[in-house]
Amino acid sequence: MPLHETDAFVLRTFTLKEADKVCVFFTRDAGKLRGVAHGARRLRSKYGASLESFTEVALVYFQKENKELVSVSDCEIIRSQFFEGMSSELLGVMHYLAELVIEFIPDHEPDERVYKLIAATLESLRGSTRSQLPPIVRYFEIWMLKLAGFFPDWKYCSICHRELMQEPSVWLTNEGAPQCASCSRMLGDELGSIEWRTIQEILTQSPAKFLSSPRDEYVINQIGYIAMRLISRVLERELRSYEVLDRLRPVETC
Ligand SMILES: [Zn+2]
Repeated sequence: MPLHETDAFVLRTFTLKEADKVCVFFTRDAGKLRGVAHGARRLRSKYGASLESFTEVALVYFQKENKELVSVSDCEIIRSQFFEGMSSELLGVMHYLAELVIEFIPDHEPDERVYKLIAATLESLRGSTRSQLPPIVRYFEIWMLKLAGFFPDWKYCSICHRELMQEPSVWLTNEGAPQCASCSRMLGDELGSIEWRTIQEILTQSPAKFLSSPRDEYVINQIGYIAMRLISRVLERELRSYEVLDRLRPVETC
């Protein structure tokens, strides 16, 4: 069986049987995958702290044919996200961001943009103040929506191609395409011009650059409400297809 080596972020771990853990990874080379770390629950496990959420690891694994779960052979810490005195808010944020990746990103689809997004977001989180946490979370949510097909072309109305920058409001269709007032007939999710401009900044700036300007709390909250609505819409759509997939796919372990 060939061994695969790739950098990866640990997203979540579950207990499997007495001594083992199942881990969800986002790998650089193979996208999201689930693997069994044998013996990871033992007291003196070779994995140590490498399976904590968002630890970046050098992962070595092998995959048996027709098995849904890969087997973790080695997992060395490249960079741990945990530090002494880490706030519960920060832990909560990291847990939520990991959930978004697990829910939004399909298995086995490598995507360098996702890997870089996680790396850059974690970098910003490390140096963040408490008041910077909401803008970072909004940044990540908007990018998850973008990767799910929202905001396909955010410069122009998707019907009449009018430039949207000057419009007082923009409306999003159910599929996430932006439209001007007259094309949308004001139906859909309305975004005010400041919110729309802020979303454009998210989509064109690194997290560090986005955080370098002070962000109005009200605008960030408004984007949060919109993002929450859009995320639940995407997940309902996805969850229905996952249910069908799950019925077709027997659960297999190593
Ligand atoms: Zn239009």
